[in-house]
Amino acid sequence: MSSSVIDFIATEARFGAHNYEPIGVVLSRGEGVWVWDTEGNRYLDCLSAYSAVSQGHCHPKILAAMVEQAHRLTLTSRAFHNDQLALFYEEIAALTGSHKVLPMNSGAEAVESAIKAVRKWGYEVKGVPDGAAEIIVCANNFHGRTLGIVGFSTDPETRTHFGPFAPGFRIIPFGDAAALQDAITPNTVAFLVEPIQGEAGVIIPPAGYFTEVRQLCTANNVMLVLDEIQTGLGRTGKLLAEQHEGIEADVTLLGKALSGGFYPVSAVLSNNDVLGTLRPGQHGSTFGGNPLACAVARAAMRVLVEEGMIENAATQGARFLKGLKDIRANTIREVRGRGLMLAVELHPEAGRARRYCEALQGKGILAKDTHEQTIRIAPPLVITSDQVDWALERLATTLTQDFS
Ligand SMILES: *Cc1c(COP(=O)(O)O)cnc(C)c1O
Repeated sequence: MSSSVIDFIATEARFGAHNYEPIGVVLSRGEGVWVWDTEGNRYLDCLSAYSAVSQGHCHPKILAAMVEQAHRLTLTSRAFHNDQLALFYEEIAALTGSHKVLPMNSGAEAVESAIKAVRKWGYEVKGVPDGAAEIIVCANNFHGRTLGIVGFSTDPETRTHFGPFAPGFRIIPFGDAAALQDAITPNTVAFLVEPIQGEAGVIIPPAGYFTEVRQLCTANNVMLVLDEIQTGLGRTGKLLAEQHEGIEADVTLLGKALSGGFYPVSAVLSNNDVLGTLRPGQHGSTFGGNPLACAVARAAMRVLVEEGMIENAATQGARFLKGLKDIRANTIREVRGRGLMLAVELHPEAGRARRYCEALQGKGILAKDTHEQTIRIAPPLVITSDQVDWALERLATTLTQDFS
């Protein structure tokens, strides 16, 4: 590494809170599936900023929409109307088949907002006694980093020494419909769940799980809240991951790729009167629904559909998954994925996944380990067959190495 790269890393370490442990690469440019470091080395981005840059880095049409809007009007606050919000509402509702939209910024804010809204719905519509609302969540969930959310995480790193936490959450195993049935009480207002657990290591529930979940929620008047912040907007080869299950959530959370990585934009979408319980003054955000965010999100949704990225995620995802399954390496314990949300889980004896990610960096691929043994692979949805094959070749040589 050159001295300037070491300077960037050292300066970050000196002044920054050490709440991340980045791989030793300093990026300065991106285009499509590629990113370049400060020394001009090119890498295939197999993380896509945790699926926020699904449309590819610096997508020209999203960029143009952002620049155009930034010249005209960026922020009005919701104290006034702006000429982008209505169009954003109309387009996201049409795309997802939702009736109501609440615009926010980060993913965690969308989750927090949904928790507030389903509790309010529980008290005002379902008739739960005030203060008694329960929300069911899953073990190994990841819904963000705010205090409310980490309070119902099961990951000790995420929770330790951040309490006390808010009550009102029950934790059940993921993929176990009987556990949901047992956990539901008359005070249950919602079941909050990821269609595929992303940060947990791309954990896909058993077939039929969500059909049963949908039936249980409907039968017990419990709102099904699907956190599609990572799985949504084409990542799994369908617009929403719920479509693989043939179900519809009552509340859907989107973020990440909703802006194509240009700007934090998230949204709570609801198919019923959940968001209808919110009245003026009861919830808000200075930046939520601002014209710049709306213009960026509108362009991000448009290119996703117009440029066939969702279909491409299905096609290339299948090619990538098959290629990974064909790699004969005794380091590999399991390969799994849906669309371009893929993971390679290593045997414990193979050594830490981090070492493999560092080796991949040397071969021009940036991927991220999760939970010691898993390499997650999630390139932008614009990846081509040639690029998938290029990545597979390098993955095959890296995974047959032994870093134990
Ligand atoms: C990333 C993520 C979040 C949190 O989004 P932020 O924008 O980082 O707050 C919530 N839920 C899921 C499933 C995620 O992957």
